Amino acid sequence: MRYISTRGNAPVLSFEEVVLTGMANDGGLYVPESVPQLSADDLSEMAGLSYAEIAFRVMKPYVGGEIDDETFRGLVKEAYATFSHEAVVPLNQLDSNHFLLELFHGPTLAFKDIALQLLGRILDHFLSKRGERAVIMGATSGDTGSAAIEGCRHCDNLDIFILHPHNRVSEVQRRQMTTVLADNVFNIAIEGNFDDAQAMVKASFADQRFLNGTRLVAVNSINWARIMAQIVYYVASAVALGAPHRKVSFCVPSANFGNVFAGFMAYRMGLPVERFIIATNDNDILHRTLASNDFSKHELVATLAPSMDIVVSSNFERLLFEAYERDGEAVSALMERFQQEPAALADAPLAKLRKMFVSHSVDDSTILEAIREAHYHTQEILDPHTATGYRSAQEQRGNKAVPMITLSTAHPAKFAEAVVKAGFPGVPLPPHMEDLLEREERYTVLPAELEAVQAFVAEQRR
Ligand SMILES: *Cc1c(COP(=O)(O)O)cnc(C)c1O
Repeated sequence: MRYISTRGNAPVLSFEEVVLTGMANDGGLYVPESVPQLSADDLSEMAGLSYAEIAFRVMKPYVGGEIDDETFRGLVKEAYATFSHEAVVPLNQLDSNHFLLELFHGPTLAFKDIALQLLGRILDHFLSKRGERAVIMGATSGDTGSAAIEGCRHCDNLDIFILHPHNRVSEVQRRQMTTVLADNVFNIAIEGNFDDAQAMVKASFADQRFLNGTRLVAVNSINWARIMAQIVYYVASAVALGAPHRKVSFCVPSANFGNVFAGFMAYRMGLPVERFIIATNDNDILHRTLASNDFSKHELVATLAPSMDIVVSSNFERLLFEAYERDGEAVSALMERFQQEPAALADAPLAKLRKMFVSHSVDDSTILEAIREAHYHTQEILDPHTATGYRSAQEQRGNKAVPMITLSTAHPAKFAEAVVKAGFPGVPLPPHMEDLLEREERYTVLPAELEAVQAFVAEQRR
């Protein structure tokens, strides 16, 4: 499989190259040159298979033979053996035709584990084949950092440095990162805010001389392998509910649009999907764009669903590329305008998007109401991100004969603040994390100075 940029002006890459590269050098994001197809027979044959086997079959064409089948199957099996539920992503029925797809049974209790458990192993495989080592750097205010650390802790060829703002991350989230005592894991607490940390990571990617030629790798959601791994649970859940003989709809709590874009890819591969509901919190750029063609940046709002607090949805560009019939020049022009000023989509691409997507935005007080309501009707305690999805699914349900699958993106114990605000005493951590608050922590506090951070990375990497 070859990969091309959404802006049409970067080198065409192989799977191996695209996984090691991150963003395209024309500012775009990489997407597969063609979309592999799953026939009705392919889907039928998946009924009853393990998650790992479905994952292997769905992802194989994207890997395109660059990892031999047996090895790739092994990597996939290992990645999903870290999950605490036998089904990996179990479906939980809420009412007669509404289901929660629980994506939080991985090591850090949020859906990012699904992609990052696999990405770490794929990276390590390619690096070891090339006889190279690489450094991962990332800034986090929460979920991504811990999931990336858990995904890389066993990777011999990778050193991972995650920057978080000192004293500005919740205790559970900090400890999920700092209690991983592996030799290749380095937590840096920056004396500054998240933007300071992010700026230093960006500057390090822009000028990598401080690493003397060692490759720097990004594991944020612009990495194609993350999208690829997320396609799988759309297919697996739809098959469990009767695909290819029955359509389903999905409701996806969304921020950077990586998750719901993976769903769209599953649809493009041939999965019968009625519609996608995009759920947002008050950071509603996706909702404004779809509902009122207002493609513009607003100020960041801190909400009760903090992993969805974004200004720009980076992966939305991948969908725009499809809506604009893969016209890289048109996407490039639109994205350049969007960087400068409020922009709008052309009529035809917008009409196309509206055929498959509807959107809904949920404010903080409605998140709390949704947590209470879900508990009243089902006894389930939802995390605040999932609650935006639950409410949006109810509001935008459409044809009730079509099963609705709402993606549950985090375990409620991880976001206790919202759960307590909703009037519940809190939720215990699952058994494998019960002692998190007693575990030994390791991290280094550094000033918000680029030279200090880069010197630390250069010195500590193995
Ligand atoms: C990252 C995240 C999201 C948003 O997913 P995107 O792929 O960025 O749209 C939603 N919920 C939780 C809990 C997350 O960690």
